[in-house]
Amino acid sequence: MVSRQDALALDDADVLAGLRDLFVLPDDLIYLDGNSLGAQSVRAADTADEVIAEWREQLIGGWQGAGWWDLPVTAGRKIAGIIGADPDAVVVCDTTTVNLFKTVNTALDLRPDRRVIVIDEGGFPTDQYVVDGIAERRGLEVRVVPTGTPIEEEVDDSVAVAVLGHVDFRTAELLDMAAITATLHGSGSLVVWDLSHSAGVVPMDLSSVDFAVGCTYKYLNGGPGAPAYVYVHPRHQGAEQPIPGWLGHAEPFEMASRYEPAPSIRRYLTGTQPILSMRLLDAALHVYEAADVEAIRAKSSRLTDLFIRLVDERCDGLGLGVIGPREPSRRGSQVSLRHANAVPIFEELVGLGVRGDFRRPDILRFGLAPLYVSFVDVWDAVDALRSAVGARM
Ligand SMILES: *Cc1c(COP(=O)(O)O)cnc(C)c1O
Repeated sequence: MVSRQDALALDDADVLAGLRDLFVLPDDLIYLDGNSLGAQSVRAADTADEVIAEWREQLIGGWQGAGWWDLPVTAGRKIAGIIGADPDAVVVCDTTTVNLFKTVNTALDLRPDRRVIVIDEGGFPTDQYVVDGIAERRGLEVRVVPTGTPIEEEVDDSVAVAVLGHVDFRTAELLDMAAITATLHGSGSLVVWDLSHSAGVVPMDLSSVDFAVGCTYKYLNGGPGAPAYVYVHPRHQGAEQPIPGWLGHAEPFEMASRYEPAPSIRRYLTGTQPILSMRLLDAALHVYEAADVEAIRAKSSRLTDLFIRLVDERCDGLGLGVIGPREPSRRGSQVSLRHANAVPIFEELVGLGVRGDFRRPDILRFGLAPLYVSFVDVWDAVDALRSAVGARM
């Protein structure tokens, strides 16, 4: 049995424990929802005041004077370091949904003779909606890979592109990006990875990946509605994306009557970006200078392991089942449980100061953001869970 004392000892030995001081969190809350909306960093809070002053004092001069113009690219470089990408291959812009629209269309243009888009059933709904919409407009077929079926089995030389979530938001299952990408390439297909649930907590290497997108308000702590990012492998950057806009023009201030895409990742920009929000994201990424993703991943695996072990040890017979992989190497930074009374249990937990979340009909999700969640938080959360389930039996 793991005791609360044991959990405190794990915190004492945790090399990342000090990072929590870089965040502003209420004292009476155990926040296990960082996989939906990350916590506020101290740096982001300070930056909010700074950027408002820049706007007031510099007015239009801020585009150059305060670095707003280059921010999508400079923030993109920081994200590139976190997701294992070429620094010139990432730009921050728009939403994940819009960036999926761009990359899937670009991929289809690169495989004009192929008729099929593959998507995983466990993927995030917005990914499915975008893919269905694109397929309908272009007269293509969507092939949905059922949960549990290896993607490899659904891939053949009719597949133009596969759109895959790196971590399943319901079950926390982590896919093997390198192996799946290699299989897809073996049949001449391209891949778009959605990194929304893995960026910042799972180390990765995009050097052979064609395209990737992701949001920044989950483990990257960019703040509500923070802009997303798009990665395009340098070998595909010559292709055009389907939303030509003035910010992606090679010479935006020529105000030319014809579009000519920028000769860089900037061509993935559409219009003017949400600079206030992007500045807060840029500030939040500062935390990653103090910790590399390998160390974060190591802590993440130990946090999720501890959570599962405590559920096994202390919640036996309460009707809770762990869903998703039990091997930490196949799991993101989240634990998902199933219980018939998931919604009232979630509400009971909130009352006990533990904020997780649920997905209908019966899934309780706990995101363990290693930058600010401690081992004793996990112990206390499972203790609260035990009471909450008991109260709802
Ligand atoms: C959170 C999330 C999104 C969000 O998309 P937005 O367009 O940024 O709202 C998309 N895909 C996945 C896998 C997500 O987890």
